[in-house]
Amino acid sequence: MYSKEKIDSFLIQAPILKEIMDLKPVVWLNPNIKSKAEMPAFPLKKEDMESAAQLWERFAPFFVKAFPETAEANGILESPLEEIQKMKVVLNKENPKIQGRFFLKCDNALPIAGSIKARGGFFEVLHYAEELAFNAGILNREDNYGVFTSNKFKQFFSKYKIGVGSTGNLGLSIGIISAKLGFQVTVYVSADAKKWKKDLLRSKGVQVIELAGDFSEAILAGRQKTNADPMAYFVDDENSHELFLGYTVGALRLAKQLEEANITVDTEHPLFVYSPCGVGGSPGGTAFGLKQIYGDNVHCFFVEPTHSPAVLTGLVTGEMSNISVQDIGIDNKTEADGLAVGRPSNFATNVSGHLVSGIYTIEDDHLFKLLAQLMDTEKIFLEPSATAGLIGPQMVAKTDYAAKNNLKMENATHIVWATGGNLVPDEERKMFYERGISELAD
Ligand SMILES: *Cc1c(COP(=O)(O)O)cnc(C)c1O
Repeated sequence: MYSKEKIDSFLIQAPILKEIMDLKPVVWLNPNIKSKAEMPAFPLKKEDMESAAQLWERFAPFFVKAFPETAEANGILESPLEEIQKMKVVLNKENPKIQGRFFLKCDNALPIAGSIKARGGFFEVLHYAEELAFNAGILNREDNYGVFTSNKFKQFFSKYKIGVGSTGNLGLSIGIISAKLGFQVTVYVSADAKKWKKDLLRSKGVQVIELAGDFSEAILAGRQKTNADPMAYFVDDENSHELFLGYTVGALRLAKQLEEANITVDTEHPLFVYSPCGVGGSPGGTAFGLKQIYGDNVHCFFVEPTHSPAVLTGLVTGEMSNISVQDIGIDNKTEADGLAVGRPSNFATNVSGHLVSGIYTIEDDHLFKLLAQLMDTEKIFLEPSATAGLIGPQMVAKTDYAAKNNLKMENATHIVWATGGNLVPDEERKMFYERGISELAD
């Protein structure tokens, strides 16, 4: 815990913390951002991201066989980049206006997991499975990885266990892929995890253990139980390098899509990316990747709920993952699954601290309004968390960020990273939408 004196000293050093503690929506610009020339050496390099992309390619034949819905894309899991012009028109009824082009990166439509966790979560399990198979001498890099669907492989993996702590989406991704490979998999869920997610996991043969506390407590319990078993591997959302690396590949794929769409990113044409942030792994991984590709011409912003500003609190105070939102009197209660996180990832936050341009916060009511507006304008359904990036351009336009950095905003490309939605059942969708419609009517 932090003493009152300590918190007072944070407040003097960073007055914005007062507004954060008062649960006001804020925009924070990162004073510690480094330009490409001054970027420190990170534990991960561009080459690591490229070898991660190669792992995905090796596993493509596995996906084609194990998940036939991926066959059309030859086993490569990717989502479309859509221009959302009608949504831009609706948002631009309010000031400041969005300048430049406005896109949605539709990870809500990623195959199998229906969320961005299909990048990080799947990657970590595939990486582990490949390593086990290499070490056992049953696999060579040149083999056709369709062999991962064989009974021999499934029997081999059935000796091993995988554990994960999750509020929902990470558990879904780890559970689905691990069970498919034949692992014994246990998901430790927090009290706020939705019933349909638990039911879906159980239907896939995943063991679900329900805990009374929040996400951090689910991770703690899962980590202790899993690590006590020598045959078990824990996917650790608060520390994992592999999760992070899986997310970085999203940046390589996005760069390819931008190139195919003839969208230029250079000093005259800035790229802005807005990512919903929980522990900071997925937004940090994509930001890391984008910085490797575009350097100072990409501007990455994260967004957190006003009730769960975990990464913001870590960066504003400089305490990183040592501090939780509860330490400053915030309750970590939000409807935004995946963002209901009180304490940030240690690994991801240290990386993001140097490359994120800023973080803003958003109220839950606003997420539902955006959900309904996107449905009405573009006929795209997102889960509440995934809508948080939609107000990014306008939140940043309220600051002096563009002026300070001499950016030509009329040439900007804005990308809102939509992080999940496709697995949400119809009844839930309807409830979310109706809540949004009634918020809009108020
Ligand atoms: C997990 C998740 C995020 C945030 O990812 P972190 O790695 O926890 O920062 C955002 N949106 C959705 C829908 C998620 O499931």
